[in-house]
Amino acid sequence: MTPDAGVTGTIFDIKKFAVHDGPGIRTTVFLKGCPLRCTWCHNPESQAFGPQLAQFTRNCIGCGKCIEVCPQQGIAPAPEGTVINRGLCLRCGTCARTCYAEALVLHGREVTVAEVLAEVEKDRLFYENSGGGMTLSGGEPLAQPAFTLALLREGRRVGLHQVLDTSGDGDWETLAAAAALVDLVLFDVKCLDRERHAEATGRPNDRLLSNLERLGHGRTPVCIRVPVIPGFNDAVEELEAIGRLAEGLPAVESVELLRYHGLGEGKYASLGLECPTPGLKPPTDEAMAALKTAVSEAGVVCIVDA
Ligand code: SF4
Ligand code: SF4
Repeated sequence: MTPDAGVTGTIFDIKKFAVHDGPGIRTTVFLKGCPLRCTWCHNPESQAFGPQLAQFTRNCIGCGKCIEVCPQQGIAPAPEGTVINRGLCLRCGTCARTCYAEALVLHGREVTVAEVLAEVEKDRLFYENSGGGMTLSGGEPLAQPAFTLALLREGRRVGLHQVLDTSGDGDWETLAAAAALVDLVLFDVKCLDRERHAEATGRPNDRLLSNLERLGHGRTPVCIRVPVIPGFNDAVEELEAIGRLAEGLPAVESVELLRYHGLGEGKYASLGLECPTPGLKPPTDEAMAALKTAVSEAGVVCIVDA
């Protein structure tokens, strides 16, 4: 056992048989916590660094076990099952462990590098047959530098194909060290305008664009991923500009357009949060085709993720 194997981090999911997070069949490890607050985020359970309690009222069978075990007396009966007083909740997870109906779920758990790798290793045969491997996603992997780098070093030591999926908004030193340990970086670019980026994500894009510029002249292949959000960044001119940016960076091999799908909307309610983009519709096939053309015209390979 190496010292890296015992390093701990907080994750909220390990997804098996992932086919949209890099080549082949992959296992994606989702790290918890992100510096951004994108209004269209479909994983709101990824944003906070600490655990979050989700409630799925439709699963509740009204057994009342959670009310009995809550050390805060923070759960009360309600016509739809139970209601949580989130002001009292310590996010200890006692109720979620008691609820076998899965009406209560605690997102976020501390794990060691060794525990994650043991899970990832179970599907090694699939990786070898498909060219897949392990992807680190989030949340933002760069926001847990010690864990991310230890996991990638261990993954490299055991010969896994590795992908880093990042918003790019992290320390350059961490990004450079992570990039040296992976086979591909999936780098999100939301929009190039500083103010609009800050308005939609809570942070300006200076650091991530500076990181992209440096990464784009490095040795690790990069795929720029653009979440296409209607009314925010779905103008042809926006994608033309991103295409030109990509074309000027030798390490960028492709641009992938990710269609907004709105599937995360229900998750906000489960966490006691308001969805910032209620009712926002996905872009049409025609709109996605036009944006693909806009990027391709800059001479860059452009992929549209269904
Ligand atoms: S333990 Fe689960 S199923 Fe039982 S009342 Fe609580 S939330 Fe509902
Ligand atoms: S997470 Fe803990 S404090 Fe919060 S409602 Fe459940 S049992 Fe109570």
